Amino acid sequence: AKLVYDFAEGNRDMKDLLGGKGANLAEMTNLGLPVPGGFTITTEACQRYLADGRHADGLAAELGEHLEALEATMGRKLGDPADPLLVSVRSGAKFSMPGMMETVLNVGLNDESVDGLSRQAGGNDRFAWDSYRRLIQMFGKTVCDVPGEEFEHALHHAKVAKGVKDDVQLDADDLRALVTAYKKVFLKHTGHDFPQEPREQLDLAIEAVFRSWNADRAILYRRQERIPADLGTAVNVVAMVFGNLGPDSGTGVAFTRDPATGERGVYGDYLQNAQGEDVVAGIRNTLALAELADLDEKSYAELLDIMTRLEGHYHDLCDIEFTIERGKLWMLQTRVGKRTAAAAFTIAAQLVDEGVIDLDEALTRVSGAQLAQLMFPRFDLAGDPAVLTRGVGASPGAAVGEVVFSAADAVAAAATGRSVILVRRETNPDDLSGMIAAQGILTSRGGKTSHAAVVARGMGKTCVCGADALEIGRDRFTVGGRTVREGDVISIDGTTGRVYPGEVPVRPSEVVQYFEGHLDPALANEPLVAAVHQLMTHADAAAALTVRTNADTGPDAARARRFGAQGIGLCRTEHMFLGDRRELVERLILAHTAAERDDALGALQPLQRADFLEIFREMNGLPVTVRLIDPPLHEFLPSLEDLAVQVAVAKARGEQADRDERMLAAVRRMHESNPMLGLRGVRLGLVIPGLFAMQVRAIAEAAVALAAEGGRPRPEIMVPLVGAVQELETVRAEAEKIIAEVVAGSDVQVLVGTMIEVPRAALTAGQIAEAAEFFSFGTNDLTQMGWGFSRDDVEGAFFWRYLELGIFGISPFESIDREGVGRLVRIAAAEGRATRPDLKLGVCGEHGGDPESVHFFHEVGLDYVSCSPFRVPVARLEAGRAAI
Ligand code: ADP
Ligand code: MG
Ligand code: MG
Repeated sequence: AKLVYDFAEGNRDMKDLLGGKGANLAEMTNLGLPVPGGFTITTEACQRYLADGRHADGLAAELGEHLEALEATMGRKLGDPADPLLVSVRSGAKFSMPGMMETVLNVGLNDESVDGLSRQAGGNDRFAWDSYRRLIQMFGKTVCDVPGEEFEHALHHAKVAKGVKDDVQLDADDLRALVTAYKKVFLKHTGHDFPQEPREQLDLAIEAVFRSWNADRAILYRRQERIPADLGTAVNVVAMVFGNLGPDSGTGVAFTRDPATGERGVYGDYLQNAQGEDVVAGIRNTLALAELADLDEKSYAELLDIMTRLEGHYHDLCDIEFTIERGKLWMLQTRVGKRTAAAAFTIAAQLVDEGVIDLDEALTRVSGAQLAQLMFPRFDLAGDPAVLTRGVGASPGAAVGEVVFSAADAVAAAATGRSVILVRRETNPDDLSGMIAAQGILTSRGGKTSHAAVVARGMGKTCVCGADALEIGRDRFTVGGRTVREGDVISIDGTTGRVYPGEVPVRPSEVVQYFEGHLDPALANEPLVAAVHQLMTHADAAAALTVRTNADTGPDAARARRFGAQGIGLCRTEHMFLGDRRELVERLILAHTAAERDDALGALQPLQRADFLEIFREMNGLPVTVRLIDPPLHEFLPSLEDLAVQVAVAKARGEQADRDERMLAAVRRMHESNPMLGLRGVRLGLVIPGLFAMQVRAIAEAAVALAAEGGRPRPEIMVPLVGAVQELETVRAEAEKIIAEVVAGSDVQVLVGTMIEVPRAALTAGQIAEAAEFFSFGTNDLTQMGWGFSRDDVEGAFFWRYLELGIFGISPFESIDREGVGRLVRIAAAEGRATRPDLKLGVCGEHGGDPESVHFFHEVGLDYVSCSPFRVPVARLEAGRAAI
């Protein structure tokens, strides 16, 4: 295969082969924009190099040909002592991996060509030596692993010796001396002299870029961003242009719109008399791009013109790297630019308004994850609070609380109602209780896959990790000379990773206010809110899946409905047995006779009916799936340990404890080693006479009551934990009798269906569909039983290790495991529908609100997903995105 492409031979669709940078350089070249000459070595050449440890056959020859062609166009030879061509050797993978891999500038300079370069620049020695010292520095660092600080030190010394602050104040002689110093550093660390042969420099630099694909930080970054490890990077060899030739030269970055807010306009930074990295490195203070207009009107106008063309061409926000060499503008890079969540929505809607893209396309420009970010509460930064330090925003949210340093302190403080932030160097499974108790978590070590980050995201808890400037002690931490003691208040932002001293006020986000429908009028014209509205409306119109909510109270149901839920996919009934009703449940469990049991059930029944009526009212006209009681009944009883102590104490005092003793016996009798696999779900219904019947009656009566009020109830009764059709048939037969009796004379219809959450149910779905009018996939239990992971135990205990090892890229409880658990869903959906073509299919696990999973459920052809009220907008957006 061809291993090297001239810029004129490529285009933007060749990212797989040419990497993003190479493909876009080619595209700009073919658009006729001023791009320096150059060529791209393919990602395939990199893959071969990494696999075989040497260059692919033919690469050297192809490289030679392209170099010659470049030399011919430029009229100069690489490193020619009299009149040198210099090149940059730049990494560039398919997906942008900012700062992760390497680039070397000024390749081709040596002790002789440095003079030639000076002559080219009209006798500009300073410029030539500055370029040379940059080459030794970059080459040393990236190609030969010389520690970068060594060069920084030498540069620093040169400035101190001269008594100046800025690099540009060093003159030609200073820089010549610096080159000598750099060469010494180079020799000391590598054992050989800096290579003088231009072609050797080029070859070594290309190899170094290949190898940088497997640098630790690049590997880590790919794992976090889920970029495949085998893509490899392309290498771009580009004729150098110089921004460091004097005040009429410079280098800059630009955005066609504001990547932070999406606002239209010209954004960017410019640095006079500078090369490459100087702008981003923050070495000197940059100018705002608009100020370039005063320095070089012609180049500025040309740049604006090119930016408009690029936007028109890419139909999206572009970011750009450019250099001006003595008043001549050169384009060095462009790509569709990264942006914040808010900017993503605003820009997508703007582009629709401008007629650049259509609404379908706009939906591909935003994501549910971005929408979720926009829904977290925000810090109100109007007071411009000082930032204490920064870490990695690992789990979004805005948390405020007193600093504590141990899990035990977090638990103790939370028990007294105080809000705390748990600060740890890193967390481990022993910290779990403290993490649960805390408002937020701050660590000084670890990245987005550290234990703290993974567990916090799993719990939806705000977390900033890897704030490595923190020095954490027993009862205080210091950062930048400030000390924060136990009990002091801090605020942490899990989105930006910022940590603030003291309490920063928190407010609900505009987007949530919009969904809630009571938007502050001052915000009604916010471009962001308008954009969200426009895109959500289109997502709803496009979606095939509908979105329901998991809700078991009237207020939750009402909120979810405001958030756009089309019904309830999971109404749990267990909380309806708690509080003062616990006593009735205890009576039920302790009942000796049928009469006692019926008595307890009889007392529970009207209470349940009232619960259901409230929920049905809120969801009037929309389906409500009620799950019959699922958890093991002993969850409603006191704990074995407490009770044993109570009874022992009473006995020791010689007191009567009949009831406690009876209860203790019951608790002992019902104790289970693996309660999640024990007497629960449909098994309860089959073992405890009257329990399901009571619930079914309450549901049917509530529906009839709402119908009598003129409402339109659409109840669906869902039987949990079914593994065999016989279980469902038994419950169904009893339920149908009761329903028929209760609804007689009304037009209320009650569906009966089941959850598919035991692997056996998925595998026998064809049979189960005989007895079920709908399936709802309980993907939490299906994942738990499919993997054999006890959900309550694994996340804190070892998932961080699995993520570290890449056994999975994301917890299977967060995002559906397509190959395994997903396969069970596919089988059950297909076989269920084969039996009963109009079988309704939905999902009620946490996965219903996860963007990736929503796409999967769309592909499988389910009818709806159901998720917590707060995730409903995210699921709506993703359901729309999945359908286009
Ligand atoms: P990154 O991907 O980290 O941005 P680049 O390959 O884009 O790395 O290069 C680093 C810097 O060097 C950028 O500022 C770029 O504009 C500049 N640069 C790269 N090639 C050239 C060149 N041929 N002439 C002048 N500057 C260059
Ligand atoms: Mg770049
Ligand atoms: Mg379940």
